[in-house]
Amino acid sequence: STSGSGGMPLHNKMLIGFLIGTLAGLAANFFVADAGWLNGLITYVADPIGQLFLRLLFMLVIPLVFSALVLGVVEIGDPASLGRIGLKTLVWILAVTAIAVLIGLVAVNLFQPGRGIDPVVAQSLLAASSDRATEIASAREGVSGIQVLLNIVPRNPVEAAASGDLIAVMFFALMFGIAATALRTPGTRSFVAAVQGVYDICLKLIGWVIALAPYAVAALLFSITARLGVDVLIQLARFVGTVIAALGVHFLIVIPILLWIFGRMSPLAFFRGAQPALLTAFSTSSSSATLPTTLKVTVENLGVPRRVARFVCTLGATANMNGTALFEGITVLFLAQFFGIELGMGQQGLVLVLCILGGIGAAGVPGGSLPVIAMILVMFGIPPEGIGLILGVDRLLDMCRTVVNIGGDMAGSVVIGRSEPAEAPDTALDAALADTHT
Ligand code: ASP
Repeated sequence: STSGSGGMPLHNKMLIGFLIGTLAGLAANFFVADAGWLNGLITYVADPIGQLFLRLLFMLVIPLVFSALVLGVVEIGDPASLGRIGLKTLVWILAVTAIAVLIGLVAVNLFQPGRGIDPVVAQSLLAASSDRATEIASAREGVSGIQVLLNIVPRNPVEAAASGDLIAVMFFALMFGIAATALRTPGTRSFVAAVQGVYDICLKLIGWVIALAPYAVAALLFSITARLGVDVLIQLARFVGTVIAALGVHFLIVIPILLWIFGRMSPLAFFRGAQPALLTAFSTSSSSATLPTTLKVTVENLGVPRRVARFVCTLGATANMNGTALFEGITVLFLAQFFGIELGMGQQGLVLVLCILGGIGAAGVPGGSLPVIAMILVMFGIPPEGIGLILGVDRLLDMCRTVVNIGGDMAGSVVIGRSEPAEAPDTALDAALADTHT
């Protein structure tokens, strides 16, 4: 599913788009600087193509986040035998994802990869198209701390969705999922099945939108480099370095420690057993595509009871994304730095919460986190065009963060598997799972 129509894999096309856009933009920046035709080309060709891509991403955010969160809650809250595992899984997801995002936020504050370009110049990138972002940014001013908390609860969920208030939509989806779990009537069951349908359709649409990415990458990088020149590439390299370093800390230090303490498993045994799934994650950039391998390896190589592995890994493939949440946090702060927008401690705390939920709300497909990031950027008044900046290097980072996502799922299975009594009837669970998955 990752290969484009021409037979060449999509990520190769994206790389080519990146190179063409960057080289053409740099040449234009160097040779023709302020010519009228160049500005015309940027304004009437490159910018609209990039905008089109971003709009298509935005279009998917609300249905995707709503359906992913409802389904996540319903799966966690399933019948009696699952309830206990569900609770443990929930605690694992929230706690470990929070650690991951914190590592990302510390890294980005430490290395400041986004600083260096004059924010006024960076903002000039957006002259044409950022009315929405500035609108939201100015609407945010003068809002008190209590008000920020109260705003989590939407007065009107449709209005929240319409104005892109992601956190309020998330709150509504969580409440909705909890109520659906509490009821379990035939009506709610068919509703959940319909939500599953919405989710599947969103995945399909993301696949189509991401297929346009090579052209969007070329267009967005052309406008960015034509305006900002070579400096912007240095910025990008620092961003990539920060993400990879933070992912490394989480994956090679935090996860092994948790495994050692709570799962009594040596990191070496874990990585050796998990390797096939990690490699699959790296090459597919998709937690969902990796799921069959994850399940097999978790049961056969890591010795986790089947029912635990099936629950934690299946849910984890869409809801437990350590690497993705960490990446979202770094990207939001990086772009805030890039555009000269100061985010204080309180706002960074909100970024933390949003990224934990964002890890649950992102889809387990290549580029699944991009719609969520675009939405978080708008919430903080950061121009979502910034996504264009990171798109060109996203495939590499996607491969790395998917490995961390899958590693987190398997580590969670090991820890939760160890805490469960050895044998328990599997049939009730099978029925329950068949129920929610069809
Ligand atoms: N590709 C990631 C996954 O499937 C999601 C993302 O961060 O884009 O786990």
